[in-house]
Amino acid sequence: MNALFKDRKNLVASVGVLALVVAILCVVIPQALTMRQPDLIHQGPGVTEVRKLSDFFDGIAGTSGDTEVYVLDSGKPGASALLLGGTHANEPAGYLSAVLFIENAVPATGKLYVIPTANASAMSHTDYMEGTPRRFAIDTPAGPRSFRYGSRATSPADQWPDPDIYVHASSGQRLSGSETRNLNRAYPGRVDGTFTEKVAFAITSLIRKEKIDITIDLHEASPEYPVVNAIVAHNRAMKIASIALLNLEMDDIPIGVEPSPTNLRGLSHRELGDATNTLSLLFESTNPAQGRLRGVINEALIVEGKDEMYLAAHKLGRLFVPFGPQGEPLKKRVARHISTTQAVFDAYASEMPERHVLVGAMPSYQELLDKGIGPYLQSPKTAAGAAPRAPQQLAEVPERRGLAQ
Ligand SMILES: [Zn+2]
Repeated sequence: MNALFKDRKNLVASVGVLALVVAILCVVIPQALTMRQPDLIHQGPGVTEVRKLSDFFDGIAGTSGDTEVYVLDSGKPGASALLLGGTHANEPAGYLSAVLFIENAVPATGKLYVIPTANASAMSHTDYMEGTPRRFAIDTPAGPRSFRYGSRATSPADQWPDPDIYVHASSGQRLSGSETRNLNRAYPGRVDGTFTEKVAFAITSLIRKEKIDITIDLHEASPEYPVVNAIVAHNRAMKIASIALLNLEMDDIPIGVEPSPTNLRGLSHRELGDATNTLSLLFESTNPAQGRLRGVINEALIVEGKDEMYLAAHKLGRLFVPFGPQGEPLKKRVARHISTTQAVFDAYASEMPERHVLVGAMPSYQELLDKGIGPYLQSPKTAAGAAPRAPQQLAEVPERRGLAQ
């Protein structure tokens, strides 16, 4: 009798736990699935064509690795450049800088290709055990506009399981198994490789087929990471990186230049420069939301970049960049990426004046610091049929130092 009572009690408890789990899943799964929906990105006045990454390698067609490639063609001679945002989808300055180029830029010479979510799968989920918000909002004049905050790596829903050891295919370099889903360890990619290697191969194919002169991979890093507020350049791109550094320093934008290590394999700045004719560079800005020393991660930390723990670490001399009470706001990190991109284009043209990607109608570093990102984003209601904001007045493109026009 006692055993029967105990069994019934266990059964009731089990059914209760099961019901609780089902209830939690009913709330969590629909929320998680919203991350599979891409953010709206408006085609700005300079966009002449929107292609798919699978146009350059059909092995990713129909998968969540396929993504938009925005083309901004001036129709006039010049160089061609590729901007990659969202290689690591938890580094929002790269993603938003790409969005600002798509929604504002008007090239006067040359051709610009922009992929805002280079690893589209990584944008569809968050990192485990980190408690990161799935979204953050930027205030625009027409109201808040929401963007996804994703993960460093491809979603396990698209590539699973991880091996114990990830072996980089063309070099044999061995890394932790989780790096098998890191796009920036997968270059130059493989036709018959993993999901992530196929995405890398599609980007490499685009660079080859479109004869991209300059490739810039936009990233962020934590303040305790040694390479931060920096350009990492392939050896063939070191000269233009150094010229860009001088011009940025003259504009009071402190930045470092690091040569791409020859023995660190799979990264864009190494493999794309080795495997193609492009000049390959990677930028790092400072994102306290990524670091291990941070406190709670929330929308405020992502957007405003203020953190008491990093302030304390700075006072103890433990960081590689200055970190004050004003933090490292997203608008400043985006301003840094946009200014550095244009400084690299100008540096390239200072070597070959006829090969310029002269991009007008972009906000300046100071404008972004003063007004924030919001005024340069389209209305969040544009998707519902509202008229898109008029393009920024096409400001005269300032003559850069050292540029013979
Ligand atoms: Zn990164």
